[in-house]
Amino acid sequence: MKRDELKTAIDYYRTKVKEEMAGEKKINGQFIGPRNPTNKLDLDDLIHPERPFLSKDVENDWDSIYVTTFRFGTLKKPVSMVKCGHGTDLLGGMEFGSQLVQKGFIKSVKDLVPVFAKYKLGILDIFSETDVNNGKKMDIMVYECIDCVGLPNIGEPGCYFESGIITGIFKELTHKEVFAEEVRCWTSGYSFCHFSVEINHDPEGSLESQ
Ligand SMILES: [Zn+2]
Repeated sequence: MKRDELKTAIDYYRTKVKEEMAGEKKINGQFIGPRNPTNKLDLDDLIHPERPFLSKDVENDWDSIYVTTFRFGTLKKPVSMVKCGHGTDLLGGMEFGSQLVQKGFIKSVKDLVPVFAKYKLGILDIFSETDVNNGKKMDIMVYECIDCVGLPNIGEPGCYFESGIITGIFKELTHKEVFAEEVRCWTSGYSFCHFSVEINHDPEGSLESQ
């Protein structure tokens, strides 16, 4: 995607972020977005998602097809075991994120957006960044995420692999303690993923607003 197309996409989704967060609920400590909840997630939900911006430079319906192929991999886990796999997905993502830096795919923070777009993982947006005592807090959004775009609202976020990727990248770039948690997702009723990221320069201290 070209730089101006990325900017158009980010502007479009930032408006959605504001609208959906304005109408959100908090249930048992979990933010829940505006889409109606369901308790089932099956094959029909996983296949052929629409990604209006990331599909623009791909012919025919190829974007929908390779995203579906990627998702077939998640069906290796039986539904009853999916939650047991979250830690594995997180650790796998962390290793993958570290490798992206070690192998030179990502050399600095400014490479994140083009690399995520090039490999069609999603449209990454560093939405906000705050310096705090002992470190930094960031809100990172991912739009049209390969893992969850179009999935139903099952009441909790599901992008553990992407949380791991973001953690691994920042850990490797900063050599600090990093914690990334997905707090909003398609699977908790939104049209975007929101990762809350903390980079702690002093592992002994806590992150508090200055
Ligand atoms: Zn997500």
